[in-house]
Amino acid sequence: MSLSSNRRRWLEGDAYLFDIDGTLLNSRDGVHYQAFHSAIQAVFGVSSRIDGVPVHGNTDLGIVRAVLEREGVSPAIFERDVPRLIAHMGEEVTRNAAQLAPELCPAIFELLTLLQSKGKLLGVVSGNLERIGWLKLEASGLRPFFAFGSFSDHHESREDIFRVGIAEARRRLGRDLAEIYVVGDTPADIRAARMTGVPVIVLATGIFPFKELSAHRPDGCFACCTDLLAAG
Ligand SMILES: [Mg+2]
Repeated sequence: MSLSSNRRRWLEGDAYLFDIDGTLLNSRDGVHYQAFHSAIQAVFGVSSRIDGVPVHGNTDLGIVRAVLEREGVSPAIFERDVPRLIAHMGEEVTRNAAQLAPELCPAIFELLTLLQSKGKLLGVVSGNLERIGWLKLEASGLRPFFAFGSFSDHHESREDIFRVGIAEARRRLGRDLAEIYVVGDTPADIRAARMTGVPVIVLATGIFPFKELSAHRPDGCFACCTDLLAAG
């Protein structure tokens, strides 16, 4: 059981926009996680953990906003200091980049190689801050596959991140009617794709099981890319 509809159509897109965490890779290190705490302490003077805030399908800025809200820091202070937050988190992850230990999701390398060989435009749409997202992709060896990315630095909501990525894909392809797929791993990815009007394929390689993801009726749902490749 793989595609709920549009079986075998997944290879016919012009561009593919990939989420990072849980879709391309899973981080087996605490570098990004610790950067949140270091930045929240340094920028806002708050000793608080991100634990308890939903991180999967969230964005880096959305996570920090939720932590600060919980700690009683006003949204105005958060918004004023967002540039410092972004800089601090990026510097922390850069400083600890040697410890990044991303684990590629099954058959991701094969899928990206196949899409690239077919001349597809590949981009990233991620709730990560840009510098951090690219560092994870560099550490995983996937960076060369991607022509561009849309991240959370200037867009706190996932649908805005997708919207910017989709617009950039259309601009690069020079066609407003280009078919663009989003590939993700969470119900939030499915929702954001619906809101931005593009088909979405989800992989149960993050924390959400196949059954839960398929209940949201994405255009394609697979246990992992091995199954997606077998379906194509
Ligand atoms: Mg994800």
